[in-house]
Amino acid sequence: MSEAFHIVCPHCGVVNRIPAARISEQAKCGKCHRSLFSGHPNVRFIS
Ligand SMILES: [Zn+2]
Repeated sequence: MSEAFHIVCPHCGVVNRIPAARISEQAKCGKCHRSLFSGHPNVRFIS
């Protein structure tokens, strides 16, 4: 299994699945393309 995060976009509410290897990069929402780490990101672990 690969570790990943569920991040709820603070702008549009879409849940983005971000691989753990990319979490240190500038993650952007797949829908609205805005930064997931501005505002109040909601990060959840999945397995
Ligand atoms: Zn978004």
